[in-house]
Amino acid sequence: MHMAADVSKERKPSEVVAEMFATTHEREPEIKAYTTLFEDQAKEQAASVDAKLAKGEEIGLLEGIPMSIKDIILIEGTRTTASALMLEDYTAVYDATVTKKLKAAGVIFTGKTNLDEFAMGSSTENSAFAATRNPHDTERVPGGSSGGSAASVSAGMAAGSLGTDTGGSIRQPASLTGIVGMKPTYGRVSRFGVMAMASSLDQVGPFANTSLDAAYILKTIEGKDPMDATSVELSADQQLDFDKITSGDVSTLTVGLPKEYFIDGIAPEVRAAIDEVIEVYKKLGVTFKEISLPYSEYAIPTYYILMPAEVSTNLARFDGIRYGLSEFEKSEDLKQVYHESRTQGFGPESQRRIMLGTYVLSSGYYDAYYAKAKQVQALIRKDFQKAFEEVDAVLTPTSPHTAFKVGEKVNDPVSMYLEDIFTVATNIAGIPGMSVPAKTDNPLPIGFQLMTKHFDENTLFQLGHAYEQATK
Ligand code: GLN
Repeated sequence: MHMAADVSKERKPSEVVAEMFATTHEREPEIKAYTTLFEDQAKEQAASVDAKLAKGEEIGLLEGIPMSIKDIILIEGTRTTASALMLEDYTAVYDATVTKKLKAAGVIFTGKTNLDEFAMGSSTENSAFAATRNPHDTERVPGGSSGGSAASVSAGMAAGSLGTDTGGSIRQPASLTGIVGMKPTYGRVSRFGVMAMASSLDQVGPFANTSLDAAYILKTIEGKDPMDATSVELSADQQLDFDKITSGDVSTLTVGLPKEYFIDGIAPEVRAAIDEVIEVYKKLGVTFKEISLPYSEYAIPTYYILMPAEVSTNLARFDGIRYGLSEFEKSEDLKQVYHESRTQGFGPESQRRIMLGTYVLSSGYYDAYYAKAKQVQALIRKDFQKAFEEVDAVLTPTSPHTAFKVGEKVNDPVSMYLEDIFTVATNIAGIPGMSVPAKTDNPLPIGFQLMTKHFDENTLFQLGHAYEQATK
């Protein structure tokens, strides 16, 4: 289902919602996209939008549209678990800003979606509750960490979703499940009420079936928020311009192909799909140019120092005293409360990253690791700044391969970390990135990634939309 304004007038929201829950009952036992479902509430809400339409009242663009939401984003009065035992029984006491904005727009929440615990992972197997499966092949992972969100949209259990992306957690699962997933420029969307993974890299963004739908969702959630000091007031030319996005004319654009990203490890079917995407754009008049992003090879090591440093700091709040799981009763002293609560409440990946992060921040190692990584971050950012002097966008694969089998990488953290090889640099540089499904005959979905300069989401959506129109 697509969100274009007239859809809800053609079909009653209650019919759409009923159909999506019918699909959910059929497929969810196998896919496990959700941690919580809001079926009754969603159906009631849909009925009230029906009533508005029956009276001939105008409704908003996203009003009555069923969307799922990653279970790391707070919805007041509902369980928010981050898919961690630590928060298994936690009920949110306020709405995230993005939640408030979707509520105000009349979006219907279908449920909260499963993720890798605290958004750490690339397969949604690190969830403390269940491993989500890929709707295209349930032997395979949907990607992660926002795998539940991606699977819910891909399986037709929601029309859109919100995820979070710290190193690729929206784009990679979108690629592996065959939908659009978009990470906005850092600061475009408020992080207030979104459980923090690595605060300087985290960004909330949309999943949808098309670039245009993703743009509608972004339009609804973006903007300066007094509750998040890193959120930014958008200037006139940074605001989404739907005339530009849908204009279809991309013939004046130049797109860069970074030679460092077209490496040997890319699966042949992915390489072939990207070549076909390039041909489609060439026919639309897009100019391609080889570019160089020389510091690319340092993106993964930089990310895996900065991210755990921030994770270890952010997860320190879960101490068994303030909220979340507490082993207070079983403990004899404060140290034991900390130890028991944290070893019970956190899974192996969280514990691994807390240790890694604590190490790189410790005195004596801080300069060698954390400070060095911050310097490399500046170089990676400069790489992109230089590239965007020559090109309007950069195109790469989103992931070097299609969805892998459940269990294939879960015991090999380093190979799981390499999943993010094409996506982490955008978070390190703070620029926007989007994964769009390539049209291919391949049985499993393949996504391509577009990136643009800071706050140039218009060009990103314009390119995505033009490709979708050309290959419809
Ligand atoms: N897969 C990456 C990680 O494990 C990215 C996670 C994310 O973007 N939240 O850190």
